[in-house]
Amino acid sequence: MTGWSAWIGSLRRGLWSLADVVFPPGCAGCGELGAALCETCRGGLNWVPRGQRLLDTQAVPGGLDDFTAALWFDGAAQKALHRLKYRHDVGLAETLAGLVSEHLGPVPAELRSALVVPVPLSPTRLSERGYNQAALLARGLAERWGLIHAPTALVRMRSTRSQVGLTRADRQANVQGAFSAEARRVESRSILLVDDTCTTGATLHDCARALKAVGSGPVYGLAIAQAALRGRHGKG
Ligand SMILES: [Zn+2]
Repeated sequence: MTGWSAWIGSLRRGLWSLADVVFPPGCAGCGELGAALCETCRGGLNWVPRGQRLLDTQAVPGGLDDFTAALWFDGAAQKALHRLKYRHDVGLAETLAGLVSEHLGPVPAELRSALVVPVPLSPTRLSERGYNQAALLARGLAERWGLIHAPTALVRMRSTRSQVGLTRADRQANVQGAFSAEARRVESRSILLVDDTCTTGATLHDCARALKAVGSGPVYGLAIAQAALRGRHGKG
């Protein structure tokens, strides 16, 4: 990371801290005024134990090489991600990226030269929402880990229906072939693919296939939160 982007990153974090002083936010978990996520709610976050196998990455040829989720998609994490995604509370991406990078610790050796690529939204969804929550989280993580963020290296070619309520097979069919990667950016690079939530991993695997189709190196998936498979939340 260049000195310039590090400077922009600390300026952005400084401005968010200042905004918290001037307009105290309500906690995303419990509503208490004063912090984007209060100490009690931070303490109650449900972290996924390190090394727990969440997806069978061996079972999907050409998909993800490895996968980690930081949190279970419940409690304050679920509320915070919902608020980031649907209520334009974009400052929560900084809060969550800070907590997750701290929890996961230094970048493992195989990711030290990785490109950080967020799971993209379709152009229609992006213009409706005005931002891609996965890209905000990916940017926050990339800054903290000193990695390069490449938010446009992967694009979503077509809209997919919401994954909510679909079976595992339907989720796979729904996202198949929806993504396209930019060869010039990703060729021979290892990729850290970031999404806000993961359910079956169908979306992440399809992104990995699109990246590898144009010659990327290994693709490591990272979801901020993992939804229980039987749950109704998450987009796959
Ligand atoms: Zn709280």
